[in-house]
Amino acid sequence: MNLPAPEELCRRAEEALVRCGADIGAAGGSLVARTPVTGTDLRAVRASSPDDVAEAISAAHEAFLAWRSVPAPQRGAVVRRLGQLLTEHKHDLAELVTLEAGKIPSEARGEVQEMIDICEFAVGLSRQLYGRTMASERPGHRLMETWHPLGVVGVISAFNFPVAVWSWNTAIALVCGDTVVWKPSEKTPLTAIACDALLAQAAHDLGAPAGLHALVQGSVEVGEQLVDDARVALLSATGSVRMGRAVGPRVAARFGKSLLELGGNNGAVVAPSADLDLAVRGIVFSAAGTAGQRCTSLRRLIVHSSIADEVTHRISSAYRTLKVGNPFDDGVLVGPLVDEQAFNAMRTALDKARADGGTVVCGGERRGAENSAYYVSPALVRMPAQTSVVQEETFAPILYVLTYDTFDQAIAMHNEVPQGLSSSIFTTDQREAERFLAADGSDCGIANVNIGTSGAEIGGAFGGEKDTGGGRESGSDAWKAYMRRATNTVNYSDQLPLAQGVEFT
Ligand code: NAD
Repeated sequence: MNLPAPEELCRRAEEALVRCGADIGAAGGSLVARTPVTGTDLRAVRASSPDDVAEAISAAHEAFLAWRSVPAPQRGAVVRRLGQLLTEHKHDLAELVTLEAGKIPSEARGEVQEMIDICEFAVGLSRQLYGRTMASERPGHRLMETWHPLGVVGVISAFNFPVAVWSWNTAIALVCGDTVVWKPSEKTPLTAIACDALLAQAAHDLGAPAGLHALVQGSVEVGEQLVDDARVALLSATGSVRMGRAVGPRVAARFGKSLLELGGNNGAVVAPSADLDLAVRGIVFSAAGTAGQRCTSLRRLIVHSSIADEVTHRISSAYRTLKVGNPFDDGVLVGPLVDEQAFNAMRTALDKARADGGTVVCGGERRGAENSAYYVSPALVRMPAQTSVVQEETFAPILYVLTYDTFDQAIAMHNEVPQGLSSSIFTTDQREAERFLAADGSDCGIANVNIGTSGAEIGGAFGGEKDTGGGRESGSDAWKAYMRRATNTVNYSDQLPLAQGVEFT
């Protein structure tokens, strides 16, 4: 496999950072940015010390005390400026996303487009942070709720959406009057430096208080400091279920708020009436796209037994035509796995699946093993049942194919796993489609009809149930997690009637 020269990738990363206005200085530090494209180092950056993290939280808290009183539409102006800068630097940020996360450029640009979209959404929201007015049971009284800024929002993000997840949190948090301290994945420090520089520029251009946003870099221990600091009012953490299990109880122990966006194990039902041309396209994008490294990647296909052979055959034919390789090359649809650990997890899962009676129909092998990067062919595996390996999220392109006979059985199999992020059904039968979306249908936070499980738009609330953590980010009314609600009762009469008819005279 022909891969670019590592020095060329270092140069491209540095140039993109400089164009984004990042003050990169001399390379150096204990945190090494790598590229999965070649499996080589890009640049060393400084990891934050415990004192740096404490100072970042203090500065964000100070900034919050001023920012919370800035009118929300003015806060929105900073986010509007950020959206403009993201549009100007779309190519630069996308380049860094490809370099650090290995996404093909089209998907990397799509991720930056999501950032621009959420900025637009947040600007509109800055004039729509509505509270309700309720009918009071007492004469001469007004009962209402108001939404106030919450405080410092700690954002911990995963490697696979290195910029979009930050923007979902930050654009909404800023218009809600919060300030942000961000700990990105230790695997993607450079994209984070670029985002931080663009937001600093936006704040500077609009004369917003310094300290609205701070970037802290490092691994688990830096995240833990955000988790444990009582000044972090909301901890929004995106990553594996393992991370959520560690973080959730610690934030709860100090009565902090947490918003958890954890792993998925997403399934799609393919019914006998499905339009198979459309279904196969949707399935292949969801399962093999991004090399299976989306939280919403399709991992389980639950196919009616009457069409299982045909569907499997069509997917394996499509898989064999997928171009795997250097994401910068034209026509490549499947880039690298993030690192060796991801490759080992994929190999272990395939071994387990075979031991459980599964048959690997195609894929699973490493490509270009002479390099230190990890490229794999997406794997398609027929399984006799949802054994323990199928119940787990393996963050790699493995699609397990299972069969069903009755629709009730399909729904039960679909909901049988611990995670509850995204789901879909391919059917042209309206009754089946509606049942899938109904209360006794899919138990996921995202349920789709005739599209795959991945590729959500920012307008809807994003997140999932069960082990996925229950958090919701992005559109709809997800903003409410970033504010505190106050219920206000105003007496404009000269009497003092008590609620529930209580007398106290
Ligand atoms: P990860 O859990 O290894 O790391 C995610 C982040 O959490 C990193 O910044 C890491 O340093 C930090 N972290 C890990 N343990 C921590 C701890 N104990 N305390 C504080 N911080 C800690 O995940 P990853 O490999 O970077 O990303 C892949 C995972 O993320 C997959 O499971 C994927 O499904 C999930 N994910 C979920 C969503 C979603 O919205 N639901 C989105 C993207 C990724």
